[in-house]
Amino acid sequence: MAKIMVIGAGTMGSGIATVFAMNNYEVTLVDVNNEILNRALNKIKWSMESLYKRGKLKTKPEKLLENIHTDTDIQNIKEDMDLIIEAVVEDSKLKRNIFNYLDSRFDRSILATNTSSIPIDEISKDVKGKERVVGMHFFNPPTLINLVEIIPSSYTSKDTIEKVRGISKSIGMETILVKKDIPGFVVNRINLKIFDNVLSMAEEGINISEIDSVARYRLMLPMGFFELFDFIGLDVLKNVMDEIRSRGFEISEHRILNDLINKGKLGMKSGEGFYKYERSYSRARIKRRDIFTIDPLKIISPGINEASYIISNGIATIEDVEKGQKIGMGYSNGILELADGYGLDEVVKTLNSMGLKPDKMLQNLVDEGKYGIKSGYGFYQWAYKRKEMYGLIYEKRSNHAYITINRPDKMNSLNKKTWDSLRSSMEMAIEDNVKCIFITGEGRAFCTGDDINEMYSLSSMDESKEFFKHVEDAFNSLLNIEIPVIALVNGYAYGGGAEMLLIFDLVISSENAEIAFSESKIGALPPIATTVGLNTIGRKIVRFTLTGEAIDPIDAREMGIVDIVVPDNQLQRAYYEYSRIFDNIQEDTLRNIKKIINLGKKSENTRISLDELIKISMEESFKEGSRRFIEK
Ligand code: NAD
Repeated sequence: MAKIMVIGAGTMGSGIATVFAMNNYEVTLVDVNNEILNRALNKIKWSMESLYKRGKLKTKPEKLLENIHTDTDIQNIKEDMDLIIEAVVEDSKLKRNIFNYLDSRFDRSILATNTSSIPIDEISKDVKGKERVVGMHFFNPPTLINLVEIIPSSYTSKDTIEKVRGISKSIGMETILVKKDIPGFVVNRINLKIFDNVLSMAEEGINISEIDSVARYRLMLPMGFFELFDFIGLDVLKNVMDEIRSRGFEISEHRILNDLINKGKLGMKSGEGFYKYERSYSRARIKRRDIFTIDPLKIISPGINEASYIISNGIATIEDVEKGQKIGMGYSNGILELADGYGLDEVVKTLNSMGLKPDKMLQNLVDEGKYGIKSGYGFYQWAYKRKEMYGLIYEKRSNHAYITINRPDKMNSLNKKTWDSLRSSMEMAIEDNVKCIFITGEGRAFCTGDDINEMYSLSSMDESKEFFKHVEDAFNSLLNIEIPVIALVNGYAYGGGAEMLLIFDLVISSENAEIAFSESKIGALPPIATTVGLNTIGRKIVRFTLTGEAIDPIDAREMGIVDIVVPDNQLQRAYYEYSRIFDNIQEDTLRNIKKIINLGKKSENTRISLDELIKISMEESFKEGSRRFIEK
């Protein structure tokens, strides 16, 4: 049985001892007195029992507890330790004394420190066997967060690093190699930049629960930031921030944090911090409403910038940086994946607007046109394909399709060829096996429906029938496709453009968009709104189909035409967030659900209404209406 010693039986030491004991190491836990050690043993017992109850532990806790011995004096401990982990209070002098002592006696053991902020070079300054000294930074609680940052000093041997990596693996930990010993290492540096930023936002008066709702529901983090602060303990957070700041890491001191601490509001453990807790460890209630008011990039960009700095300075690899955020912070995607998704150009723009200088790697990527998912390259390479068709651009981005109606000079109206392109783009999406399809418009309009000029020029019933065949085919391809289609309504959605919204699966609209079933104004009829629209929306749609009045997106949301209304600058953000949501749902599931949804969207009356429209297109009232429209 491999032997390890843990010095310091506080929060971290007891957690580290637990993990080793659970993995059948023989653990000796040392602290200054028996009271502390007994408290630690009780805590270890409690934690093992709760893991056992939840099925996360196979061996009975009583058996595992036999793996732990305690002592109040290191002098009593035999020299046959494979690894010694120091986890005493964060005091450089104390740690140095301990390491000097360990060096003099334990000449075959690896000597590791769990320090959060003291350079390993400083701790091993007077140690003779410097090559055996290494940082092993665990996260609280080690029983739940399976991550260790390994920090070699400038003297640590490769052999030590490899051994520590192996031991970490043997206790189920993932490792991050921090290649340069810098304050905060990797995970804390990235997170503290974000923490620092959200604390400043709160000080500027931004509602903390709105910030947390962005974190939970848009960034999809397991907890909001202020919830997390309450969970960590505000005093603990402040200590870490102070320590790392004192080592030259640029983060501010926060009045809001100090004020709460001075009032004894330390977070969950004291029943109140940023939030109030009725029961201990109950969760704060974070509303799902109004989640699009704050830009997520305004929250995380400083962290993205720090991650970029860490990579461009050779401190850690991109894989390790991402691992840190995923395992250490519970991100479902790495922070650089998020950056690629939101767009690196957008990250740089946000940093500039915040008065922060983008890291050179980030800036270079943007200068080279590598914006992330939308261009195929960023921090990562993404599946990407672009095809320009008549009046439309089709892109396969990662595993979704992104279609842009591209006739901005014609307000993205659809002539025969564009309707065809729309239909072909659906076929292309099926061929490309994408998970979902986004549709938006270039310029000021989303889509203003049929090209009136082209309709006006129809001179016979046959020509009209032929034109509407193209319209109907495209509409049918949208109606029948078994892949979710999401509209990003960036501007005017009129006529057929508004009608399309009725058959899309999800409609996200910018708050300045305008929606109108405007056909009556040109003497035509809205074939979808009067059939599918009436079936799905009900009587409320009748007024708008008769009058052609424009509908505000908020009203359209109340009617059920639009699902989500966002500020203009959040439309692209919402697009990426929904691509992530769909990414997490299985392809077959989406297809199965859509198959049934499509049944509900069909209306037998649509055929009748299209035939009616073909007739109308030859009538004088239509010719007159569309001529007036064209002249305008
Ligand atoms: P803690 O105060 O809970 O525990 C420290 C323990 O060390 C105490 O029980 C104390 O009695 C003991 N101790 C002090 N002097 C000693 C000595 N000479 N010999 C033996 N034991 C001694 O502190 P903690 O939060 O567990 O932090 C320990 C270390 O881990 C620090 O270096 C800290 O920076 C680091 N760390 C903490 C966290 C965290 O979230 N708390 C996370 C990662 C790393």
